[in-house]
Amino acid sequence: MSDEIRDPQDFIRQMVATDRATGKHDGHIVTRFPPEPNGYLHIGHAKSICLNFGIAHENAGVCHLRLDDTNPSKEDLEYVEAIQQDIHWLGFDWDLLRHASDYFEVFYRGAEKLIRTGNAYVCDLDADSVRDYRGTLTEAGKNSPYRDRNIEDNLDLFRRMRAGEFAEGAKTLRAKIDMASGNINLRDPAIYRIRKVLHQNTGDAWCIYPMYDYAHCVSDALEGITHSLCTLEFEDHRPLYDWFLQQLDLPGDPSLTEPLHEKGQWLPPSTPRQIEFARLNIDYTILSKRKLMALVRDNLVTGWDDPRMPTLCGMRRRGFTPAALRDLIRRIGVTKQNSVIEFGLLESCVRDDLDTHAPRRLAVLNPLKLVLSNWPDQAVEIIQLPNHPKDASCGVRQLAVAQELWIEQEDFSENPPKGFRRLVPGGEVRLRGIGIVRCNALIRDSSGWVTELDCTLDPDTRPGLPGANRKVKGTIHWVSVRHAIEVEIRLYDRLFDIANPDQVDEGKSYRDYLNPDSLQILKAWAEPSLAAAEAEQHYQFERLGYFVADRYEHSAKTPVFNRTLSLRDSWSRRQQG
Ligand code: ATP
Ligand code: MG
Repeated sequence: MSDEIRDPQDFIRQMVATDRATGKHDGHIVTRFPPEPNGYLHIGHAKSICLNFGIAHENAGVCHLRLDDTNPSKEDLEYVEAIQQDIHWLGFDWDLLRHASDYFEVFYRGAEKLIRTGNAYVCDLDADSVRDYRGTLTEAGKNSPYRDRNIEDNLDLFRRMRAGEFAEGAKTLRAKIDMASGNINLRDPAIYRIRKVLHQNTGDAWCIYPMYDYAHCVSDALEGITHSLCTLEFEDHRPLYDWFLQQLDLPGDPSLTEPLHEKGQWLPPSTPRQIEFARLNIDYTILSKRKLMALVRDNLVTGWDDPRMPTLCGMRRRGFTPAALRDLIRRIGVTKQNSVIEFGLLESCVRDDLDTHAPRRLAVLNPLKLVLSNWPDQAVEIIQLPNHPKDASCGVRQLAVAQELWIEQEDFSENPPKGFRRLVPGGEVRLRGIGIVRCNALIRDSSGWVTELDCTLDPDTRPGLPGANRKVKGTIHWVSVRHAIEVEIRLYDRLFDIANPDQVDEGKSYRDYLNPDSLQILKAWAEPSLAAAEAEQHYQFERLGYFVADRYEHSAKTPVFNRTLSLRDSWSRRQQG
């Protein structure tokens, strides 16, 4: 498929095209990706990243990275760095990097303006009472007894909130909209709350912090955002988004944005448009930062970058490629219908990419010794194998062949089931790149277990000879016992063994459905060239699957390879029994 076919004009891209064509925002397109730095990015975020950066790029526009740090917290530098690294890894770069906390002074001025225009008031109700007064979906709310405070009192109280005179929870600043609105978001939502917590960027400068709905739309306008893309659950918040911007009129009121001049952060404010799209959901996984954090905290995985995690750094370490993730996002498209993507679709994107790019290598995971009795004792022969069967430009590599080889235990059967196409007593099989061997005798240990196969190589079937094309049922892989290096192999599988770990029976939690076999560690034998693998180099181990040299723990001395995927989708077959 060409990129053009895979880049359908989804409804958002159509809106953007129309806005450009009609000269809205002078034809400029500015988007943003606004993560809260309270965790690592996951595959769901990849959808938002591809969409925001993609649309900007396709329209000669720009995309900002905005760290939405309006919630004060302490340890987020780790997250801030990881977020940037993950976006770069996915193949995107931002125009401006901003923090929502850059705008705290503007948010504050805006709030005073809302008070002065009679659109906000300081409310003394506690959280429970606010909830009681709010009403329900079927029942109108009641006005707060503090709703009709006069403007002077409100300004005074709000300034004293800022000065730290009141305890947390004692007061909030609320928008004065409509307690009877059918849209609960418009029933006098909070704009500011008191939180006496140090902020990672602003320290103790503030003890009042703006709420998301207020801070988000103002941040968008301050950055000149033209299209503010968010997930569907914000659809009902859009009237509030528009209300705040209309009341504040940032483009028409320079006094509000004055503080940004000093910081060199002033841009002409815009009137952005919020557009909602369906979140990405994927089966056999969870995408809530809170739950992912719990897995890390409780050591149910080795970290945010555990190769079983749906985080971008976890997928990276697993060997999933940025091109494959972008391909997945292209394939699923952008709609307003919530749906759940099959994990298998992601895997097939990864296979497609790795099949094209991953060099082939030989490795044996469960070794059984095969001895070529007609091979001269100490002789070593160097053969060549192509690095890629479909791409000659990938070149060839050399492998040593000697008398003793390792093959997979599964490639030999004493009592073969019907249709077994590998090696059996008295039978023949082709050893990849060597020729056809016949199994003449079995050597057993004292318990009767087969420890060695005594074989002969048919010399007429060596590559390049006329007999090389002689037909046998199977071709198997091998490594030379003398030359192979020992490697650690980590076989990963899905973290959960049910399709929807987010929806489980009462009394159960997603933790009850962790797949006990999601990680298996083996010692294996691999062809020597793999010692030179760079961390994060992808390979196909022939007949076994795609593997990647571990990003952190692989070295020439202690090679470690993670299995990214098997060659075929064995999971869906297992599910069908
Ligand atoms: P969580 O609920 O797990 O904390 P979040 O949505 O709060 O996730 P943010 O850091 O606020 O995470 O998200 C940054 C951006 O990524 C937002 O614009 C959000 O809409 C988008 N996003 C998050 N999860 C998904 C998803 N599953 N699919 C598409 N976009 C997503
Ligand atoms: Mg959020």
